[in-house]
Amino acid sequence: MAQYDYDLFTIGAGSGGVRASRVSASLGAKVAVAEERYLGGTCVNVGCIPKKLLVYASHYGEDFDDLAGYGWTVGERRFDWARLIENKNKEILRLNGIYRKLLADAGVTLIEAHADVVDEHTVAIDGKRISAKYILVAVGSWPTVPKFPGCEHAITSNEAFYLPSLPERVIVVGGGYIGVEFAGIFKGLGTQTTELYRGELFLRGFDDDIRKTLAEEMRKRGVELRFKSEIVKIEKNGGGLKATLADGSVLEAEQILYATGRDSKTPHLGLENAGVKLKDNGAVVVDEYSKSTVDSIYAIGDCTDRMMLTPVAIAEGMALAQTLFNNKPTKPRYTNVPTAIFSTPNCGTVGLTEAEARSRGHQIDIYRTSFKPLRHTLTGRDERTMMKLVVDQASDKVLGCHMVGPDAGEIIQGLAIALNCGATKAQFDMTIGIHPSAAEELVTMRTKVAG
Ligand SMILES: Cc1cc2nc3c(=O)[nH]c(=O)nc-3n(C[C@H](O)[C@H](O)[C@H](O)COP(=O)(O)OP(=O)(O)OC[C@H]3O[C@@H](n4cnc5c(N)ncnc54)[C@H](O)[C@@H]3O)c2cc1C
Repeated sequence: MAQYDYDLFTIGAGSGGVRASRVSASLGAKVAVAEERYLGGTCVNVGCIPKKLLVYASHYGEDFDDLAGYGWTVGERRFDWARLIENKNKEILRLNGIYRKLLADAGVTLIEAHADVVDEHTVAIDGKRISAKYILVAVGSWPTVPKFPGCEHAITSNEAFYLPSLPERVIVVGGGYIGVEFAGIFKGLGTQTTELYRGELFLRGFDDDIRKTLAEEMRKRGVELRFKSEIVKIEKNGGGLKATLADGSVLEAEQILYATGRDSKTPHLGLENAGVKLKDNGAVVVDEYSKSTVDSIYAIGDCTDRMMLTPVAIAEGMALAQTLFNNKPTKPRYTNVPTAIFSTPNCGTVGLTEAEARSRGHQIDIYRTSFKPLRHTLTGRDERTMMKLVVDQASDKVLGCHMVGPDAGEIIQGLAIALNCGATKAQFDMTIGIHPSAAEELVTMRTKVAG
């Protein structure tokens, strides 16, 4: 008789939990995973995938505007939100099925129910106790709305994906990447869009040139950006909502979307009973191998609040399987993790920002370019692309690349490989560009703008 029912019991079949479970099973472990809501987790259902589909939808609006310069004329334009949401939902259902099959093919037992932690080797599902040598907490995160009068009228990204109709006016609150992405989506689909952020400039933590360039580009597109602004009260106003700001001004909208933060989904999971230490925001405290303060309980993904990104949760899941079931203790790597903001226009970034490089004591050179994309020479659109390289003077290594412009998210992926290989500015310069492209500018920047 085995000592435990399973070698690994994973709570949460999202990006991290599914990968850790599948790879562990492929290494010979007996694995079960519990999922209470939707297969594939946030990314598939209310995150990256549906978000990117809505971003695609929103870009068509601009494309219609731009095509006249290229000789095209189109007839009447109409946008059908209900059809977009229906098609998006069908695609998500298909992806849910793929996740189900991936788990089944890997031999992982799927239990579609809420799981609680009872002790260091036991979980409970519907009152039934199941034991496991290791428990993996991969429960993800959940959006939060601050408490203030009328906050119950606000929605979060979760609801935004299922709105019954496209609002005529929307207020997006928050200065993180999810906020700017939704502002771009709504504006692109024709909604009058205001984005509020309580700080001086949104996208804190990103390079300042990304932050400034994106703010200019969003304003050019007609998004009303109001920084140092905060809502103190929301009231119902006929069919819509009335928001009172801290400075006393009033804004009206049909929807108010809060994208101000996400907390780990750890409360009421029983982790504290098992002796697992949590941070104030509920994040599970883990070591470099994703082990919690209890030897048999591990945690990965958003619920550890390390880097809330799908590929990071997946990398943590892969590393954990190697550590637990392949005798290869593996630490996930967090350097040069590239990220994209699927704003309009896109942003892409990898490595150190200028401010980070300086604060870490690097003597640096800055190369920066800003130009009108070739495509817009005929459309007449007033849009500029910005690219920036942060270079270490002593080693000539490129420490950071930052870009705002079409396809930035695609372009930066390749640069992340170069940075991980320790590429120098001289190696960038000796690389032949692809002409005509925006990306060629990355290998033709010769003039330092700051040192
Ligand atoms: C709007 C939005 C856009 C995003 N866009 C991007 C993007 O473009 N790129 C990117 O890399 N990342 C993006 N992210 C972040 C990304 O979705 C997350 O980082 C990723 O999904 C985290 O994976 P996870 O496995 O930690 O958690 P999740 O994917 O959230 O999975 C956790 C799962 O656990 C389940 N669960 C929770 N508690 C229990 C329980 N007690 N019992 C059973 N099941 C439970 C949940 O139902 C859920 O399915 C976005 C997020 C949001 C919200």
